[in-house]
Amino acid sequence: MNDLLPERLERWQRVERVARSVFHAYGYREVRLPILEKTELFARSIGQHTDIVEKEMYSFADRNGDKLSLRPEGTAGVVRAGIQSGDFRSQLQRWWYAGPMFRHERPQRGRYRQFYQMGVEAFGVPGPDIDAELVVMSARLWRSLGLKDLNLEINSLGTPQSREVYRQALVTYFSAHESELDADSVRRLEHNPLRILDSKNPDMQAVIQAAPSLLDFLDQESVEHFGQLQASLDNAGITYNVNPRLVRGLDYYVRTVFEWTTQSLGAQGTVCAGGRYDGLVVQLGGKPTPAIGFALGMERLVELMSEQQIPGDSTDPAVFMIMVGDAAQIRGIAVAEEMRDAGLQVQCNCNGGSFKAQMKRADRSGARYAVILGDDEMAANHATVKPLRHEVPQQQIAMGSVARYLAEKLDQID
Ligand code: ATP
Ligand code: MG
Repeated sequence: MNDLLPERLERWQRVERVARSVFHAYGYREVRLPILEKTELFARSIGQHTDIVEKEMYSFADRNGDKLSLRPEGTAGVVRAGIQSGDFRSQLQRWWYAGPMFRHERPQRGRYRQFYQMGVEAFGVPGPDIDAELVVMSARLWRSLGLKDLNLEINSLGTPQSREVYRQALVTYFSAHESELDADSVRRLEHNPLRILDSKNPDMQAVIQAAPSLLDFLDQESVEHFGQLQASLDNAGITYNVNPRLVRGLDYYVRTVFEWTTQSLGAQGTVCAGGRYDGLVVQLGGKPTPAIGFALGMERLVELMSEQQIPGDSTDPAVFMIMVGDAAQIRGIAVAEEMRDAGLQVQCNCNGGSFKAQMKRADRSGARYAVILGDDEMAANHATVKPLRHEVPQQQIAMGSVARYLAEKLDQID
């Protein structure tokens, strides 16, 4: 679990700002949901035999003995909220969320016990048009952030019925090759054989590669759905790789699943993942409501931005106010307010200090300009405006015009 201090947060804020505007551009509206839910909600949705539910949740009994868990992901809570509010009754809902998730995993690069996701969920559309829109939206997000080298992997898991047939074929195949499986996979053979395909164990890659392919077991409708998704992506100019081994770690997915991955983050290379979950709303007690969504991992995305030297949203002030002497300090507060009225970010010197000491603080603040008020300035009723980033001479500006003068100057820079 990490502390996120101001400097580190600048890239986070850029991702949040850009993501919010991209999501809004597609009609997604924000929801803010509890971090604590009943444990049962996650067991029923994510699946009893998934890694998350079996060994990664932070669960406890509260004072009433109710079993609660810190949410390990966002979808279950979103579905619960939609059912409870009755919002799924209306035609189509597009929702997004952001916030911390908790999983008791082994902490390492790109894998933390408290981590942040931004996610989107669309309810009420069974067809591949929304699948395509969702993927296109994620691609726009990377573009808007200036990110490069993200690869899209897609697959279709078919329907629960076709997957059951495939599941049996897998069990037959892997049982015949049990000696080549690691302990984890032998354990999964009984309850979750599809997850064996997801194993990162290098010794098992050969046996996984030779396993029956899910795509050969798809029902006709899923084949068509998947075909239309691919046609839409082709048409939108989005390149992808069909990966029949992509199964995802949660039980609720059907048909479309996808991941955006990168080579540059080591083993934890998936920055965004999602899929369709048509059965989940019913499973959790709602009316039949097809749905699809994705979640992106903030820590991994931010690390990728820093790998690619994409800056964050600077929180540096535009102006640093230097005030020497009592009269200047009193007047300075009002002058700073005028600048803020003009839309400028202004950091005022506090705690006095000599002119030299204040100049040092101004330099360190990252501001573009220092506005200096001393005895001379007070007497002449002007301020000295000193550019801090360029070798340009300072200027005297009438006190009442400083705000307008700097607003114009800074506008030219932007
Ligand atoms: P992985 O295969 O890397 O464990 P996952 O399939 O468990 O990922 P999802 O549940 O689909 O991940 O979550 C979506 C995204 O959230 C992931 O692609 C990843 O970017 C991020 N994520 C998941 N778990 C963690 C974690 N423990 N720490 C940081 N980010 C995470
Ligand atoms: Mg995981």
